[in-house]
Amino acid sequence: MKRKILPIQFACPDVGKAEIRKMKEVVNSGWLTNGPVVREFEAKLKEMSNASRAVAVDSCTAAMELTLRALGIGPGDEVITTPYTYSATAEVIRNVGAKIVFVDLGDTYSFEMDYGKMADAITERTKAIIPVDLGGVLCDYEQIYMALDSKRELFKPANQIQEAMKRPAVIADAAHSFTARGMFVTLNPERPMVSGEIADFTCFSFHVLKNITTGGEGGAVVWKDIPGIDNAALEQTIRLLADHGHTSRDKSKGWEYDIRLFGLNHIMTNIDAAMGLTQIQRLPEIAVKRRHVTIVYDLLFKARDILPLISHFVTTPGVQNVSACHLYPVFIPDGGTDGDAIRNGVYDRMKAAGIPCNVHYKPLPMMTAYKQAGYDIADYPNAYNLFRHVLTIPYHTKLTTVQQIYIADHLEEAIDEELRANASHGGVAK
Ligand SMILES: *Cc1c(COP(=O)(O)O)cnc(C)c1O
Repeated sequence: MKRKILPIQFACPDVGKAEIRKMKEVVNSGWLTNGPVVREFEAKLKEMSNASRAVAVDSCTAAMELTLRALGIGPGDEVITTPYTYSATAEVIRNVGAKIVFVDLGDTYSFEMDYGKMADAITERTKAIIPVDLGGVLCDYEQIYMALDSKRELFKPANQIQEAMKRPAVIADAAHSFTARGMFVTLNPERPMVSGEIADFTCFSFHVLKNITTGGEGGAVVWKDIPGIDNAALEQTIRLLADHGHTSRDKSKGWEYDIRLFGLNHIMTNIDAAMGLTQIQRLPEIAVKRRHVTIVYDLLFKARDILPLISHFVTTPGVQNVSACHLYPVFIPDGGTDGDAIRNGVYDRMKAAGIPCNVHYKPLPMMTAYKQAGYDIADYPNAYNLFRHVLTIPYHTKLTTVQQIYIADHLEEAIDEELRANASHGGVAK
């Protein structure tokens, strides 16, 4: 019997009976919103990421914004990030009233900021850096800390936490990198470090399209206690900010409560945490499947002269760095054109073959809201150049090898046909 190839999904959550069973338990318990199941989920998050603190919230966006607020970052401050990311990374900076400072990507086809330019962008107003572990690959945090160290004398702390940190905070947008690990010898010469213990603060996403999910939406901030600050107080501030500044949900103290600060509503529910807990239990299985799909793609593209833009497995002497295997972007040649026509043509041909692809990402300075705010893609040539060559292909645990072969074959064909069609219209084929 012929195996069914279509339909193919771009991404798809890996949830099933085990998750439903646990969620049903919570529903039957009658305690639906924030409570003990969320605490249990947070304990697991700490364990998985070698962190000492974890606050689960309803999104990664909320986790980043609450962290900025808790650190006292706001109007008059600057926060550095990459233009090559999802809007959440930058909008949280704007939402707290600080200025978004974009730093272009490094050399050709890198998904990371140019760390030399990052150091140059640090001013006496800089209060944080938000690097993005794109596709599940950890950024070069050694270079980030080095850049920050080189500009230490510029730092102007505005509160006790900032004073104790003595430099801008590194808040990782780790929406893609939960469980990624890598060796950072200057930070820990003994063993590879895991996403959650490398940046000062690490924000995860459990959105439905991320590697694991908590009921469709969810996120968390985790960190390792920072010397010199009251970490328990900082955790309490983030919890209060996520819950209207409302104290004493503890009913043993009677009805009395206080509103300690002006907060928001970003709490995670017990139901969502129940799904998250089951997903974490099943993570070994999910991670093995994602790695298997990665290895199959790597082999298929090697045989077809197609260049993956991310190496999910990087072996340095004696150590294997493994990403969280979240996105699989491939390089689409431009046929000598300077726009993105070839990539778009390949996208259309893949779509016609029933293969949904995407572009991660269209750089933020190309977006209307950002243009209106004065950002110009001409200032970020490396981000633009990467963008016009990128296509992200279906990548999830339900892909079969037969489907992956179908995708690789069609991709090779689509690139060839698109280059040929372009050459016959006066372009220059490579
Ligand atoms: C998904 C995503 C976010 C936002 O995560 P939410 O949990 O949906 O808020 C932030 N940054 C990146 C890079 C993402 O892909």
